[in-house]
Amino acid sequence: MKIQIIPCLHDNYSYLVIDEKNNIACAIDPSEAKPIIKYLEKKNINLKYILNTHHHYDHVGGNQELKKKYNARVIGYKGDKHRIPEIDTLVDDQEIWKQESFEAKIIHIPGHTLGHICFYFFNEEAAFTGDTLFSLGCGKIFEGSYEQMFNSLMKIKALPLKTKIYCGHEYTKQNAKFCITHDKNNENLKNKIKIIDKKLENNLPTIPSTIREELDCNIFLRSNKVETFSKLRDLKDNF
Ligand code: ZN
Ligand code: FE
Repeated sequence: MKIQIIPCLHDNYSYLVIDEKNNIACAIDPSEAKPIIKYLEKKNINLKYILNTHHHYDHVGGNQELKKKYNARVIGYKGDKHRIPEIDTLVDDQEIWKQESFEAKIIHIPGHTLGHICFYFFNEEAAFTGDTLFSLGCGKIFEGSYEQMFNSLMKIKALPLKTKIYCGHEYTKQNAKFCITHDKNNENLKNKIKIIDKKLENNLPTIPSTIREELDCNIFLRSNKVETFSKLRDLKDNF
């Protein structure tokens, strides 16, 4: 199984999980259809499933066109059945979604939106965290409470250390600036910033990160109390 990063819109990442033996794929959070179709056509891959972490436009914008073109099925959280376009399969917290060679555990992680989920492809040791956990940051709290967001991050934190984190946006550099302001002596963070800068200089994504790197460097994951977390979230909103 291969995971392909597809840059979309201004700073979004969509992803393809590709079963290379059968030339079929799942698309995670297709912001727009065009760049995804371009990749699939070049590689002669058939799109079978569309997986949405949440209902925001920059994560579902390609649903309709991709579904029509490939006759793909759209998978999303049951609580968001009225706001994820073209949804076919409703999934719930802790459920294992399995189709053909694709297998992911659904983890409900509300806060950014109330229906936000994470797709944890445990065989591939990869978690698609949408706009909940970013590399060195976390999503804005639009619909949930601080406590919900904090608990959602705790759930992601509990995944195995080597789990690769594939998030919804390339926000890493801006997030790094915030982290280093409040965590000046963190050597792991300083090293990670060097690596991030090198990747960005070469026009490469800073994604994936890993749970281990985020535990070492991401100030939001490092806060163990909801009070500290909430304070940081407020500071970041005005950063
Ligand atoms: Zn969002
Ligand atoms: Fe987003």
